[in-house]
Amino acid sequence: MPSADSGGESLSAKLAAAIALTGPMPLGQFMAAANAHYYAARDPLGAAGDFTTAPEISQMFGELIGACLADLWTRAGKPNAHYVELGPGRGTLAADALRSFAVAGLAPEVHLVETSPALRARQAAALPAAIWHDDLSSLPNEGALLIVANEFFDALPVFQLCKGAEHWHERVVAAQGDMFLPVAGKTVPQGVVPAALDDAPPGSIVESSPASVAIMRALAQRLAAQGGAMLAIDYGYLGPAIGDTLQAVRSHAYANPFEAPGEQDLTAHVDFATLAAGAALGGAEVHGPMSQRDFLNALGIAHRAAALSMRQPERSAEIAEALKRLTGSQEMGLLFKVLGATAPGWPKPAGFG
Ligand code: SAH
Repeated sequence: MPSADSGGESLSAKLAAAIALTGPMPLGQFMAAANAHYYAARDPLGAAGDFTTAPEISQMFGELIGACLADLWTRAGKPNAHYVELGPGRGTLAADALRSFAVAGLAPEVHLVETSPALRARQAAALPAAIWHDDLSSLPNEGALLIVANEFFDALPVFQLCKGAEHWHERVVAAQGDMFLPVAGKTVPQGVVPAALDDAPPGSIVESSPASVAIMRALAQRLAAQGGAMLAIDYGYLGPAIGDTLQAVRSHAYANPFEAPGEQDLTAHVDFATLAAGAALGGAEVHGPMSQRDFLNALGIAHRAAALSMRQPERSAEIAEALKRLTGSQEMGLLFKVLGATAPGWPKPAGFG
């Protein structure tokens, strides 16, 4: 795999040098640098890569997300609308959703927010007419936005606080040679940790992802001003909660998140309560979160699977397996959650009861 570094110096060496110069760095800074490097030069998805996502498991996922948004757009009176996806990976979800849009007579512009040059190239092959953005600021200012983020927020940096014998400390990353390890940094002022967690025992960890909240809030402001809706799907929980959810995945196996920065995928579980609060703060109406299992079942994934199997009987075992992976309680069905956000006055998205 080619390195994204200029000059050939590894990211490990750069991070170690930065730490030697200015001291241990906040976890969120380490995670941001590691993931920017990780995604820049590779396609990490699929059996030959590091992990597999819902749209890569089955076309049913993107088709149902697309059908949900197309239905909402129809009930909203078919306004001028753009499709927006954050971190679209290989572009598979968007391509599947566009087929559902076409059935409903919706043919939106496709706007992709993606920082990775390697994945932009993959997306261009799947979505030749797409328009790319480095961040939210250049998205169209007019027209309703139909926004999707699948396994996007989990890749954004989290910061952690850890409880010492008495006080909470920021969790920072120190270096020994080119080995990294988390250590306790500065004491954080009282009131920073939610009161409900303040009595947690020593060793407890709480996380926050300021970047996720800022993005959710900014998108909610766009929805409130322009109309539209957003579906955010990810694995996560309802905070505030104690727990260290930072994890590294490489070749479909867990790895030490402090090893080989930039060579493995770093993620953290998404706090959907905080994400929902960010959406509400930005002026959007919030729906859910609910489990991916209940959401896909409500949208009729079982019917879709039956129809696909009827048309291609030779694929029926594979389709049944995909259905189980997407909705099974022991698989993605319960861990993954779906949060909806809509412009005030827009109807409630199907699936949210
Ligand atoms: N949504 C896809 C891919 C998930 S992987 C799927 O479900 O298959 C995470 C995606 O987010 C990748 O496309 C990655 O390049 C992108 N990404 C990560 N951090 C980003 C950032 N800060 N801004 C924009 N895109 C980012």
